[in-house]
Amino acid sequence: MTMTLARARDIAGAVRIETRAFIDGAYCDAAGGETFLSINPATGETVAAVAHCQASDVDRAAAAARRAFGGGAWSRAAPEARKAVLLKLAELVRENAEELAVLESIDSGKTITDCLNEIGHEVPTFFQWYAELADKTFGKVAPTGEDALALIVKEPAGVVGLVLPWNFPLLMAAWKLAPALAAGCSCIVKPAEQTPLTALRLAALAAEAGLPDGVLNVVPGEGETTGAAIGRHDDIDIVSFTGSTEVGGYFLRYAADSNLKVIGLEMGGKSPFIVLEDAVIDDDLVEHAAMSAFWNGGQNCSANMRQLVAASRAEEFAAKVVARAKAFVVGDPLDPATGIGAMVTREHQDKVMGYIAKGAGEGARLAAGGNAIGAPGTFIEPTVFTDLTPAMTIAREEIFGPVLGVLPVKGLEEALAVARDTAYGLHATVFTRDIDKAIYLARRLPCGTVSVNGFSEGNVTTPFGGYKRSGSLARDNGAEALDQYVQTKTVWINVKSPVGA
Ligand code: NAD
Repeated sequence: MTMTLARARDIAGAVRIETRAFIDGAYCDAAGGETFLSINPATGETVAAVAHCQASDVDRAAAAARRAFGGGAWSRAAPEARKAVLLKLAELVRENAEELAVLESIDSGKTITDCLNEIGHEVPTFFQWYAELADKTFGKVAPTGEDALALIVKEPAGVVGLVLPWNFPLLMAAWKLAPALAAGCSCIVKPAEQTPLTALRLAALAAEAGLPDGVLNVVPGEGETTGAAIGRHDDIDIVSFTGSTEVGGYFLRYAADSNLKVIGLEMGGKSPFIVLEDAVIDDDLVEHAAMSAFWNGGQNCSANMRQLVAASRAEEFAAKVVARAKAFVVGDPLDPATGIGAMVTREHQDKVMGYIAKGAGEGARLAAGGNAIGAPGTFIEPTVFTDLTPAMTIAREEIFGPVLGVLPVKGLEEALAVARDTAYGLHATVFTRDIDKAIYLARRLPCGTVSVNGFSEGNVTTPFGGYKRSGSLARDNGAEALDQYVQTKTVWINVKSPVGA
């Protein structure tokens, strides 16, 4: 899907912005009338004042979700009925994709190209794929003797809180909502306070698709109020969270302090992009290297910022990556020519600039970019550092901005040792022509996704999540995502032979 700048601007001027929470099938203000501002980071302009849900609003949402779950209109609906509603929702997202994409772009600073791809293509694919899974998921029969029949059945787990990040606002909503709804759960979505607008619009589309009242609630607000109220709620059974490792830890504490709800975590990363000596450093490899670090302005949990390159090839690699980095158009996110939009907030821009200063201060060589540009917009030039060493701050901490670092390594084992030397374990890319080396690294890298000869996070069919401080055992995507939202029940039936032994 593509869109001209003129059309994007027309839509931006006319787009309907929903600022109210969505609870029990209807839009409503926060009970106390509190609001917070959504700012367009590309211009610094206020987009809207959005309802700021407090603990009492989360209570209302949880009560509606529980009522809906207990009532059974969704949780006990025939799988094919759930499937029909989710397929309709996919269709409605596709029909409204242009408007949703523009809304997402002005709310987040993401490029219109990425927003159209995510919302016109990926988001509906998620609803469609899990819709199709709803009536194709079977239970099991246990291997008992003839004196019993033991059924292992999956049931919707209950009321789930879905706490979302700002970097892929509607896509992360779909990653979690599609399997949770397909499983039959009732959901309370908390979009990130930086990017609440598309999740609020999605609620109306879900209602139009036929989702019963109370099954999907959207409660915008800040983390310390709305997010914490979800974490601490005694009548929410599960929370699935994507965001920072620090806040992921808070949710474990909230659970311990409340009802021991189950917490699924998908958090940060410091992912390596490994180029072995035998790799062909052609345009394809360079494109993957650049996109792995700069896609979404580097605001990506699996950004391959640490590029570990065979020392003998590091100079050649760096020269090509610098040229590619300089070719990115940075600027108006609504312009289809733009490759890198705005950082999500001024505060985040400052944080990324702090890392760039630290990189230079600790002795990395600045080979491209390094400047904040486009004020009052929050843009940063794509930045390349070379001559990284493993101990440098920019080689260890997640930056979450358009910064790529080239770290020369000597041989396979040193590449593996440096790659493993991190608290995170979300993703890794390996480029080599040697299949044995590729498989060796894929087996020994402690991370949720290893991508060979191309940067990829997989797609709807493949589970996504992290080892170590990047995640819990929970996975988004693939059939595995359903596991987050179902309980497993054993039904043991004693059987007596009607004709004697
Ligand atoms: P965050 O963890 O602060 O926010 C994620 C979600 O958690 C948001 O909905 C937020 O409102 C909520 N939240 C924040 N504080 C909370 C609290 N005390 N209690 C309950 N909920 C709370 O992430 P961020 O501020 O958006 O970004 C900070 C860092 O997180 C980034 O720089 C990056 O390192 C990481 N991040 C990772 C991902 C990812 O996909 N893994 C996405 C976004 C951010």
